[in-house]
Amino acid sequence: MTKLSKLTLSVHAGSEGDPRFKGTVTPIYPSSAYDYEDMPATVYPRYFNTPNQQAVIEKMVALEGGEDGLVFSSGLAAIMTSLFAFLKSGDHVVFQNDLYGGTYYAVTHEFQRLGINYSMVDGSKPESFEKAIQPETKVIYVETPSNPTLKITDLRAVASIASKHKLLTIIDNTFASPVNQNPISLGIDVVTHSGTKYIGGHSDICCGVMVSSKKFTQQIRATAINFGGSPDPHQCYLIERSLKTLVLRVQQQNKNALALAEYLKRHPKVDRVYYPGLTDHPGHDVAKAQMPGGFGGMLSFEVKGDAHAFMGKLKLIKRALSLGGVESTMCSPVRTSHAKMSADERKKIDVKDNLVRFSVGIEDVEDLKRDIGQALI
Ligand SMILES: *Cc1c(COP(=O)(O)O)cnc(C)c1O
Repeated sequence: MTKLSKLTLSVHAGSEGDPRFKGTVTPIYPSSAYDYEDMPATVYPRYFNTPNQQAVIEKMVALEGGEDGLVFSSGLAAIMTSLFAFLKSGDHVVFQNDLYGGTYYAVTHEFQRLGINYSMVDGSKPESFEKAIQPETKVIYVETPSNPTLKITDLRAVASIASKHKLLTIIDNTFASPVNQNPISLGIDVVTHSGTKYIGGHSDICCGVMVSSKKFTQQIRATAINFGGSPDPHQCYLIERSLKTLVLRVQQQNKNALALAEYLKRHPKVDRVYYPGLTDHPGHDVAKAQMPGGFGGMLSFEVKGDAHAFMGKLKLIKRALSLGGVESTMCSPVRTSHAKMSADERKKIDVKDNLVRFSVGIEDVEDLKRDIGQALI
């Protein structure tokens, strides 16, 4: 059969319907106890192999272009389990320095105490990863586009450095979503997502996903079984349902975000716009080469004046911490995702007090422009 498009895969992959009554959708299988005889593997929720977990994984594996994967109860569970599966005391990891706030906090508070060392480097300069490699380095970890200033890391360049030094690469692909960027096709080993964002897409599910080869997934599964962090069947059913519209939603978000980035760039009350789809964004060419689906629904901008006051005047766009929902939301990174970072640390990654992070939804773009316009006065 010819390769199916992502629009088709998002609807059909992994969703085999109801084998007993021939219904269209995957039934919810709430069992936590399964017969262990005559089964290919023992089924148990914390073994990450129940039917509803499996349906989500098959869809995600098809959309990311991997071989196998796991679904978790949060994005951080997916990220930390994937990292710890390959690390032990004495090892070293190279991270890019503008990590998602929660990941940054987890690394800076858990790694050193466990004897795992790390360096943080400028993700927009591939050579900085190579310079930071030590004899004990095991993993390179990247996130692109990054949060909140949408810096672009060249994934092909990082994958080639890693393969030269025989290192494993892990990416947080949350911002791009599998619609816009498939890191495995660019040579990255393990893809992780906070499914709480685009994968869930309706601001009502917390989950995480990892996708990789069979071999690496097996290694992560072994650690995941010990750490827990498995999602329940009802949650998995909602994720599967959400994934059916992932491609449609993200396509609309890509379109809206590009139009709004251009609108904001022209606006006299806006100082600076960060969006990889703008041709003057320093990572634009790399983004174009590695994000064939689009540049994503996330952008940031600096307002002239008080960001908090601006957000208070919005009528349609909601103020919210999370992102990736069908509804447009904005937040101040200084007050939310990066609140735990010191002012000095924030300065290094361009997170200013007047920065607004914008998660563009699927609404009519003209309505969104009008809302921003009236709030910027
Ligand atoms: C939200 C987020 C996470 C963490 O995911 P949770 O589901 O909150 O655990 C990690 N990375 C990025 C880029 C995120 O936006």
